[in-house]
Amino acid sequence: MAKATFVVPALRQYPQVPAVTPGTMAHSAPFVAKPEFQSPLGFPGALADDWQAQAITKMGELLGKYRSLRVYMDSCVKCGACTDKCHYFLGTKDPKNMPVGRQDLMRKVYRRYFTLVGRIAPKLVGATDFTKEVLDDWYSYFHQCSQCRRCSVFCPYGIDTAEISMAAREIMDSIGVGQKYCNEIIGKVYTIGNNLGLPGPALRDTLEGLEEDVYDETGVKVRYPIDQVGADILLVTPSADFFAEPHVDGLIGYGKVFHEAGVSWTLSSYASEAANFGMFIGSYENMRRISLRIREEAIRLKVKRIIFGECGHAWRVAYSFLNTLAGPWDFLDSRYPVPQHICEFTYDLIQQGKLTFDKTQNDDKVLTYHDSCNVARASRMGDQPGGQFDIPRAIIKAVCNQFYDMDEDTIRDRTFCCGGGGGLLTDDLMELRVKGAQPRVEALNNVMQEKGVTHMAAICAICKSQFTKVLPYYGMEMDQIVSLHQLVSNAIVLTPREDDDEDDDEDGEDDAQALDDDDSESIDEAA
Ligand code: SF4
Ligand code: SF4
Repeated sequence: MAKATFVVPALRQYPQVPAVTPGTMAHSAPFVAKPEFQSPLGFPGALADDWQAQAITKMGELLGKYRSLRVYMDSCVKCGACTDKCHYFLGTKDPKNMPVGRQDLMRKVYRRYFTLVGRIAPKLVGATDFTKEVLDDWYSYFHQCSQCRRCSVFCPYGIDTAEISMAAREIMDSIGVGQKYCNEIIGKVYTIGNNLGLPGPALRDTLEGLEEDVYDETGVKVRYPIDQVGADILLVTPSADFFAEPHVDGLIGYGKVFHEAGVSWTLSSYASEAANFGMFIGSYENMRRISLRIREEAIRLKVKRIIFGECGHAWRVAYSFLNTLAGPWDFLDSRYPVPQHICEFTYDLIQQGKLTFDKTQNDDKVLTYHDSCNVARASRMGDQPGGQFDIPRAIIKAVCNQFYDMDEDTIRDRTFCCGGGGGLLTDDLMELRVKGAQPRVEALNNVMQEKGVTHMAAICAICKSQFTKVLPYYGMEMDQIVSLHQLVSNAIVLTPREDDDEDDDEDGEDDAQALDDDDSESIDEAA
């Protein structure tokens, strides 16, 4: 069991609403971004003397720009339906982690400056000045929200605390109080191309290694191409897929699916990141800058389709906003959705009977499935309502003999967050991450006890990283979390190609051409 410097909650059979304990997480706040992490994103480096006026001006701007924010500020009736729905409240007992408690941190400032009664008689409506103490509370508790939207499912008015958290972070960034983890990562995307800071040569080495590993294991030459001009498909995937377990096993699976589909595809060393942390900090401009890299590469590589790998919030950004952020996509093949999820691609092939599986290859596992928040509550898949729930499960059932869902109150649109989403996947928030994972881990533990489940599959890089880290705190194994396409990879029966015994230069794979050295160098320099 992993050692903790805090008390790890005991697992119970069912989540219980804890007694409210004010201030239990007041000490929790992520590291603040230094000026060098702020400026590349267009934010000031530190608080100015007139920060309060700046913050109120920014808040007014957002209230004008996002009608939903003003509606959320005005419409809460304090019914209490959301109070026990946030995993961070259930795990920490802190009332400011109740969704309504979190909202009220902004609402009391909103009322003070943007409502008549709040201006005249603030105490009557619980309005307060935007003091440094209030700002510190904002920084702490708006970084204890993973923007998972679970609370909005239960709110009769549909108030979305995720959007309030995004707005709060945008206001704080605009006055020089950014979060180190998110803002440093966004800077890496601008300078290197991905969250992990993996340069082009490292990506190419990794992919060559994967080709060798898969060939050694299967005798089939599966390609993992990068920067191939003229490939049909550009795969945009989280950079964790390039090296970390269990993510990379998913990437191996994508390649095998493309191989069986007989399509040409490529990764990009310039757009080598599906994740878009611009959403976590509520910054439309940074979300747009990150998304535009995908557009630039789609044009440069002359692809016809774009497919996203397993990343929850990347799919939310792609599904909901990609067209607005980086469209129009009229240069792509209009016969395919823009963008498409790798699960949709694999599922379509399964439906058409184009993939063959040996399900016994996964018989050492009994599976359950974790619905990642951003896929579950902020996107869809396929052309049927609920496709984002049904398609991943259908794939798992096609490749595994043993599958059991967790309790119905903890899956599909009621799924519990992994505890590390929304820009909180940083070691300086480990206590929050472990405590916030409690409701999900309890549901997992129940199916382990009752059904003999051994592994949990997910289609989100953050979920996989989070569970790898937090499961040991609860006495579980880090490798109990697996990539969905890892299961596909284990079971898929590969078809050898005629060129499997020939050497690479003679294989004539598809029509795609690798970028020549000059092109590759220019991409590396741009990154
Ligand atoms: S969006 Fe998720 S993390 Fe944020 S308050 Fe709602 S339930 Fe909690
Ligand atoms: S459920 Fe909605 S209306 Fe009720 S307290 Fe929560 S935010 Fe307010």
